[in-house]
Amino acid sequence: MFKADLIDRAAQFRSADEDPTRNLSACPTLVLNADYTPLSYYPLSIWPWQTAIKAIFLDRVDVVASYEREVHSPSLDMKLPSVIALKQYVKPSEFPAFTRFNVFLRDRFTCQYCGSPSHLTFDHVVPRRLGGKTTWENIITACAPCNMKKGGRTPKQARMSLMLEPIRPTSWQLQQHGRGFPPNYLHETWRDWLYWDIELEE
Ligand SMILES: [Zn+2]
Repeated sequence: MFKADLIDRAAQFRSADEDPTRNLSACPTLVLNADYTPLSYYPLSIWPWQTAIKAIFLDRVDVVASYEREVHSPSLDMKLPSVIALKQYVKPSEFPAFTRFNVFLRDRFTCQYCGSPSHLTFDHVVPRRLGGKTTWENIITACAPCNMKKGGRTPKQARMSLMLEPIRPTSWQLQQHGRGFPPNYLHETWRDWLYWDIELEE
């Protein structure tokens, strides 16, 4: 069968539930690399179930675990995949993306001036008007009061000191920090595959 036909077939899948958007949207698929490690931790590598089913039909992934929930097409019933693994190994990137979330994660969700975990914002250590760039090395997590207090000055001018020098973290470093901040939602079938499972530590 041609790929296009397979994709059409994936699109034909319909839930047995009356309101599939409501019920099925809560069935994301955890995507593992070919070595059964998560493709990425931040953001966690999850796909909508529709994408996962297409990948199954295209023979690009193996199903590792499934939800109880089924979807139906005219010719096939299928349980929604909860964990899949890529057949072809993807080399993980050494450095994480420079995103707001990852800056917070590098700084462990605390203000780098006073340590507060509340009202977090971002601060250019060297202000933009003084040539400060928007980079890992010049952006830090700062609470709103510290950000206000510092204003458009350097830390030295404002007589404020940083808890840690901002660096570009490696994916491994960020992953270590991530253990302290697990995602809000983890399906039971995912736990075996996620590194931060607290029960497996010690
Ligand atoms: Zn602060």
